[in-house]
Amino acid sequence: MGRIPQEVIDRILDRLDIVEVVSGYIQLKKTGRNFKANCPFHNEKTPSFVVSPDKQIYHCFGCGAGGNVINFVMKYESMDFPEAVEVLAARSGVDLPKYKKNTGEGSSLSAGLYEINKIAALFYQNSLRGEKGKKPFEYLKKRGIDTGTLDEFRIGYAPAGWETFRKYCEAKNIPADVLRKAGLTVPGEKGRGDYDRFRNRITFPIFNERGHIVAFGGRVMDDSLPKYINSPETAIYTKGNVLYGLNFSRKSIRETGSAVIVEGYMDVIIPFQRGITNIVAASGTALTQGQISMLRKYTNTAVMVFDADKAGESASLRGLDILVENGMDIRIATLPEGEDPDSFVRKNGKESFENIVNAAKGLFDYKLDILIERSGIRDIGGIVDEMLPTISKVGSAVIQSDYLKRLAERLGIHEASLRYEMGKVRPDYSYRYASESNVDRKSRNYRSSEIHLLGLAILGRDKFFRIQDELRLDMFRDRSVRKIIRLLGDLFNGGEKDINPGKLLSRLEKDEDAKTAVVQALAKMEITQDVDKALDDCIFCIRRENREDELKELTSRLKEAQQSNNNTEMRELLTRINMIHKEKVA
Ligand SMILES: [Zn+2]
Repeated sequence: MGRIPQEVIDRILDRLDIVEVVSGYIQLKKTGRNFKANCPFHNEKTPSFVVSPDKQIYHCFGCGAGGNVINFVMKYESMDFPEAVEVLAARSGVDLPKYKKNTGEGSSLSAGLYEINKIAALFYQNSLRGEKGKKPFEYLKKRGIDTGTLDEFRIGYAPAGWETFRKYCEAKNIPADVLRKAGLTVPGEKGRGDYDRFRNRITFPIFNERGHIVAFGGRVMDDSLPKYINSPETAIYTKGNVLYGLNFSRKSIRETGSAVIVEGYMDVIIPFQRGITNIVAASGTALTQGQISMLRKYTNTAVMVFDADKAGESASLRGLDILVENGMDIRIATLPEGEDPDSFVRKNGKESFENIVNAAKGLFDYKLDILIERSGIRDIGGIVDEMLPTISKVGSAVIQSDYLKRLAERLGIHEASLRYEMGKVRPDYSYRYASESNVDRKSRNYRSSEIHLLGLAILGRDKFFRIQDELRLDMFRDRSVRKIIRLLGDLFNGGEKDINPGKLLSRLEKDEDAKTAVVQALAKMEITQDVDKALDDCIFCIRRENREDELKELTSRLKEAQQSNNNTEMRELLTRINMIHKEKVA
């Protein structure tokens, strides 16, 4: 996508009220000048999500989420920037100029693949309703799928011939290589033409989170094998990065605060049709990191539904650790022998399925029960080896400690010896934890005085100019803060009198760190009573902190100079240290 001009974005922001837009998604309650709600981006019982009509921003004191109205729509709808702008432009009645698509091969190829998948889905849907679709249509009816569901999930039928779809596309002048790149056709051998990948199969479009079709799954209608075939990975489809059904269920997952994870397409479709709408399928054996990150945007609680025969497998047990590691609260539900969610819901209905989901066991208990059942209590070593890695991945030390205690009790061994064993598992865990928190923006530490000062600077031009007079740009340690101060300088010096924080955020479009800094700064202003005193304090603080930082650095260099007997350097350093001490008194 080409850049959308800033004037257009400003016009959209001018016409929209963040309170009105956000109220369309969640219920807001007025408190003083602001509006409050339970945060839609994390689970909470007391509202810490605040929308400010004056500033045209939102901020959550609980999870740190925040931004302007565009950022809200992006996050809530999982849209990218141009998509959110498009939605809001339509809503505000602003015409988006026809911005040019990127000429880069990547994006035009993707656009072409999305387009051809749409065409394919429609072709398959039409052929399901056509003459050749009678048998598959009857089959789907028999499996309990209503016509409404067929339409919603865009289920179709790929006819039996070798070239039906390819010929259809040829007649429409769709280039053969696009079909091949989309994985819809397979190149023929020895100069023979390409042929359709999906033949005589029920087709299930696989949607991405935003509801665009990225691939297809095809199922036979009898017992022939393979039962399912899937599109290969393409420029727009990576297997481990899609959760089947998430585009339909994400709203409900967010509302109910938890997700039900099943295995196949039908395991999503049938329960969904019966009203279990917070359901997704991993469509593979184990969940991937990518799938979990996607899910975590909506909830951190999930119930995994296993078939009875799958339940005891070591591989599926170990696959669950990745969820724990990612801070998911994971429980396991087991279906009776021979049932999967599809068949179970058809036979027993929604409520029985819900009962099974509600009775799900925590991962710790589930795993331990299975291990004891399988090997008996005699294989203590084996059980401990399976359990400790899981326990070590639990984020909370309190819960970990509780698990160790309970494990010791169940196995009749000393807790101390478990703790000793745990020590051997631990390094792996702490390493992973540390590397993860590095990339977590929420945990980013800004210097509090800098953030506070930033809030004051946004407040108005006289405050800003005072800061500009008192502090040099390089005295701000944080790169993002410096960037914003510089931007404010441009705006104020360019004659701007008031800064609309919502618009300021839109100028920081892709810089997440800078946006976080602005949101935190504005949140600080909410609790600032005496603005002038705060300004004095912050300036004083930043000066002092810089002096201290410099002193620290000089002292460590002094130590090095002493060790290497570098007298000239020592004298120089001492003079500078003395100067800083004098400054401090002054
Ligand atoms: Zn939150």
